[in-house]
Amino acid sequence: MSKSIQKIAVIGGGVMGRGIALTAARAGYETILFDIKEEMLEKADQYAQKFLAKSVTKGKMSEEARSQALEKLSFSTDSTALIADCLIEAVPENLALKHKVLTPLEAQNAPDTIIASNTSTIPITRIAAGLERPQQVVGMHFFNPAPIMKLVEVISGAATAPEVTDSVFSLAQNMGKVPVKTKDAPGFIVNRVARQFYLEAQRILQDQTADHAAIDRLMKSSGFRMGPFELMDLIGIETNHEVSKSMYEAFFYEERFQPSLVQQQKVDAGHYGRKTGKGFYDYTS
Ligand code: NAD
Repeated sequence: MSKSIQKIAVIGGGVMGRGIALTAARAGYETILFDIKEEMLEKADQYAQKFLAKSVTKGKMSEEARSQALEKLSFSTDSTALIADCLIEAVPENLALKHKVLTPLEAQNAPDTIIASNTSTIPITRIAAGLERPQQVVGMHFFNPAPIMKLVEVISGAATAPEVTDSVFSLAQNMGKVPVKTKDAPGFIVNRVARQFYLEAQRILQDQTADHAAIDRLMKSSGFRMGPFELMDLIGIETNHEVSKSMYEAFFYEERFQPSLVQQQKVDAGHYGRKTGKGFYDYTS
């Protein structure tokens, strides 16, 4: 039977966590967003205020719904406050970090609390294997920007209980999303397909066949909403690079998944995209 979810805790208030928390609060769930950095929570708060105000201006949301969503959303740097029916982890793409964050949270929560990860590529089975209750661990992979993008991949690891998968599937539907169930393979469905979109574009750039803006223009003229370089800037180049490295390793170093030196250099320079003001494009003005 699906678990009744009323309270959600989102762990990590960066690009994805802030959007997931807003999505949950907007759908009426009591939501707490946790980050180790106060400044990330302040940014997340501003993001939610701005996003909801814009929704009202555009006529997509009533004023009453806006204030209800804000009432449901709270922020904390105190991890002991994270008691919930469902935890949604959105910390950086690193297995050791995900284990470090989830281990004490699992211990302080009830045995039937669902532990969902927003990982882009790390196998759910591996995340679950480091925890006490692997049957409660599931993938809930949102897309960026989380309050807008409809698709959510719901990933069952080797030990995930079917009712946990079903609960997260229903949760995504209640958030207004279109969930898709997938088994646990590196990159699941979308990141596996999309990896070549980023990697091949960077190979073209590295070969000097065209510059990044020309590649983006071409991809958009062939029907994509955004070009690969615009999208990497939106996602966060360091996050996209971690995802590439993780997939490369997970596919036993298959050449087609080899990460890009172009991206490595951006990461070394701290040019992560929109979040730092500079990536493939300049956002400082
Ligand atoms: P991000 O770097 O923007 O945000 C991560 C946040 O986690 C930061 O605010 C950081 O302060 C916080 N954090 C770091 N250590 C922490 C800890 N110990 N406890 C609590 N918070 C901590 O990263 P992101 O882009 O939001 O990615 C998060 C996860 O979502 C990753 O697994 C990533 O692969 C996945 N993801 C990212 C995207 C995307 O487009 N960026 C899309 C889908 C999935």
